Amino acid sequence: MARLRDRTASWAGELRAGALGLDRDPEAIRDRLEEPAVRFLAELGGDGPVTPGRDTLERVVVAEELARGDAGALLASPGPSMSGVLLAVLGSPEQRDWFYGRLGERPTWTCFALTEPERGSAIGEMSSVLTPDGDGGYVLHGTKRYVGNASRAGVAAVFARVAGTERLGVTAVLVDTADPGYRARPLPMLGLRGAQFSSVSLDGVRVPADRVLGTHLSPARRGMWSIVQVFNRLRPSVAAIALGIARAAHEYVGEQRGTLRGAERERYEELGRRIDAARLLTYRAADAVDARPSAGHLGSAAKARAAVLAEDVTRSALGFFGPGARLDHPLLDKLARDARGVEFMEGAGNIQKLTLFHGLQAGKVGRP
Ligand SMILES: Cc1cc2nc3c(=O)[nH]c(=O)nc-3n(C[C@H](O)[C@H](O)[C@H](O)COP(=O)(O)OP(=O)(O)OC[C@H]3O[C@@H](n4cnc5c(N)ncnc54)[C@H](O)[C@@H]3O)c2cc1C
Repeated sequence: MARLRDRTASWAGELRAGALGLDRDPEAIRDRLEEPAVRFLAELGGDGPVTPGRDTLERVVVAEELARGDAGALLASPGPSMSGVLLAVLGSPEQRDWFYGRLGERPTWTCFALTEPERGSAIGEMSSVLTPDGDGGYVLHGTKRYVGNASRAGVAAVFARVAGTERLGVTAVLVDTADPGYRARPLPMLGLRGAQFSSVSLDGVRVPADRVLGTHLSPARRGMWSIVQVFNRLRPSVAAIALGIARAAHEYVGEQRGTLRGAERERYEELGRRIDAARLLTYRAADAVDARPSAGHLGSAAKARAAVLAEDVTRSALGFFGPGARLDHPLLDKLARDARGVEFMEGAGNIQKLTLFHGLQAGKVGRP
């Protein structure tokens, strides 16, 4: 783990050097495909260095170090990303071969399309629908929004309700974005612009039977049971992205302000302690999910805590430079905008608190 941390940490400088350029033009990532960090992400989960049983913890370590360099580039890079985690839980060996085969041909972006314009990310209210085609496959209709990399993705993992099933009959399918009916358009965003968040329309996209995820699993393990596990595994990494952003802002203050004294010194050190504490919580959350994939409550706690922390640290960091800081220190301005974006990734703070509360109430999380 220490080797993985050192390796990914060594790319922070290069990532940071390209951060503002990518913020201005998300397409700039296409000129950076040979950078070690981008190549590493393109392979992660395929032939990448993921240790079975420690995957979540490893992803956390990688996400923090790379987000410390630039969270925009971390999210903008081609590779399996969130869909790789989905495939690990719900994919059959043949589906994983198809997916990683596509990714192996050339640098290929993937996306994970859940959120909808009118329904948000409430999975039980999803309106995208899969209509059986009578051959084991489906025809997919719907719209999605805020989907990272959707407009440049070669493969999309899409969540939709199966026509004729009850409210929670949600299924994930793989879509080849070159197929007729898939269209995606980048949206103007305030933060994390590199990831080119997009709206997606799905107008009668054909989904062959072999692209429907989870059908090889027992009925009890298809659908929500597995989908919850996917989110449990992803959430600690989002917390780690927030940590990386917070660290970048904290380090920026340390580097640019030089020696701090008195109350400023105390404020700076306090922020550092809060970052370290949130990291411990995030590691514990990742460990818990690696040990038991249904143990997602600490991940919600870590995500909620780290997202608030990233906003606090980036705002405080601006405060160290006085009025005009956003104009005089564009990197800090970008970090503050990126931190705001993390609040909504994988569910907003209040939703995470509700999940944690349910865990506490059910005795699934130890009280201090
Ligand atoms: C940077 C970024 C990246 C994203 N990437 C993707 C992606 O790749 N794929 C994808 O599908 N989606 C993506 N999204 C969408 C994101 O997952 C959702 O926007 C997020 O989960 C919030 O869901 P929602 O829009 O339904 O808002 P809601 O959950 O409705 O939340 C809206 C507000 O209401 C509050 N709230 C909601 N319910 C309660 C309650 N019961 N009590 C108190 N307060 C409440 C929340 O805290 C929040 O402030 C992304 C969004 C962002 C900003």
